Amino acid sequence: MASQTDSARPTSDDAATEDPEPETALETARRQLHHAAEHLDIDPSIVERLRHPKNVHEVTVPIERDDGSVNVFTGYRAQHDSVRGPFKGGLRYHPDVTRDECVGLGMWMTWKCAVMDLPFGGAKGGIAVNPKELSATEKERLTRRFAQELRDVIGPNQDIPAPDMGTDPQTMAWLMDAYSMQEGETTPGVVTGKPPVVGGSEGREEAPGRSVAIVTRLLCEYYDRDLAETTVAIQGYGSVGANAARLLDDWGATIVAISDVNGAMYDPDGIDTRSVPSHDEEPEAVTEYADDVISNADLLTLDVDVLVPAALGNVITEENARAVAADLVVEGANGPTTSTADAILAERDVPVIPDILANAGGVTVSYFEWLQDINRRAWSLERVNEELDAEMQAAWEAVRTEYETRDVTWRDAAYIVALSRIADAHEARGLWP
Ligand code: GLU
Repeated sequence: MASQTDSARPTSDDAATEDPEPETALETARRQLHHAAEHLDIDPSIVERLRHPKNVHEVTVPIERDDGSVNVFTGYRAQHDSVRGPFKGGLRYHPDVTRDECVGLGMWMTWKCAVMDLPFGGAKGGIAVNPKELSATEKERLTRRFAQELRDVIGPNQDIPAPDMGTDPQTMAWLMDAYSMQEGETTPGVVTGKPPVVGGSEGREEAPGRSVAIVTRLLCEYYDRDLAETTVAIQGYGSVGANAARLLDDWGATIVAISDVNGAMYDPDGIDTRSVPSHDEEPEAVTEYADDVISNADLLTLDVDVLVPAALGNVITEENARAVAADLVVEGANGPTTSTADAILAERDVPVIPDILANAGGVTVSYFEWLQDINRRAWSLERVNEELDAEMQAAWEAVRTEYETRDVTWRDAAYIVALSRIADAHEARGLWP
């Protein structure tokens, strides 16, 4: 098992959920589903269906290690719901990957795609393995064998994986290659988050961080705050945290804290975010470059305007939710706030913009990538960023409308948007056979 230290490293291009205590992703996802359903007039049988994944594939993934020995790992692909389109979601390589975690994270993908109005359902998968203990060639063999085991259940119209914790564009290129070689035709649309040279999209890697920055900007506008007078603390400096930090810095905000697994850099006068390497550029460099180091726990309770937890799941808990001193919280990671902490923040009137909206830029640009692959035509980075901005604004407007008309939390508002779209689709398609 990974130590806390290991699991705190944001290793992928995307948002992360970690540390199954005190609440599993599946428990949180189910609680949130029921909470949102209470606000809507939905057929209870549809809610019951959405509590469960459509399929969970469990596969055995044996690989030959570089020393000639053979290790056997367990892989999963949880396909939650596909009423609005093919299953969509990341693949994670991490020692804590379990069946239930994949189901819970797959449910979040269903809501995330629906809140963004993308024609996708939700899925998540992964292998219970510590990728840091694998050489590049071992990781390649693991990925190709996993692709082979999942071959019958993935595909551009069926289920489209993407990077998540412990996987990256290279992993997606191997997966695409293994699938394509077996199919007998190059099939770039089977995965997203690939390198652009094999059909990946420009702007995909920075997209989750970009959407966090866009949503932070919209949130500040909503509460009449000038970004130039806004202080921001960001936990995590992987691609979500670092890209969000750099964009917000460019747009005038003052980034006062960023962190890696060993602690946080704190500078009340503002950090020059481009002078600090992100986790992808140089792992764990934040604390090395810092003059003043505070703990990750202290970062979460800094008196700032905006707090962005962008590394781990379950970091805002019953224990520290009352001590969160930020005026606004934007979730960069998947599931950083436990249900109990969420209730405490709601009671304290601290707006929390949920992960399914804030970090949805990743899957939105995945959708653009899939369109580009199907059409065999690449978009420019300018077009990707423009269309991402438009999609984020549209989703924001839909969520804001629910927030204002129903007097609910931002999280409930996002779930209401997502769930009503999904429930309407189930209603229209019906139950058959
Ligand atoms: N793993 C990413 C997430 O948590 C994105 C998945 C995708 O692009 O399909 O949103």
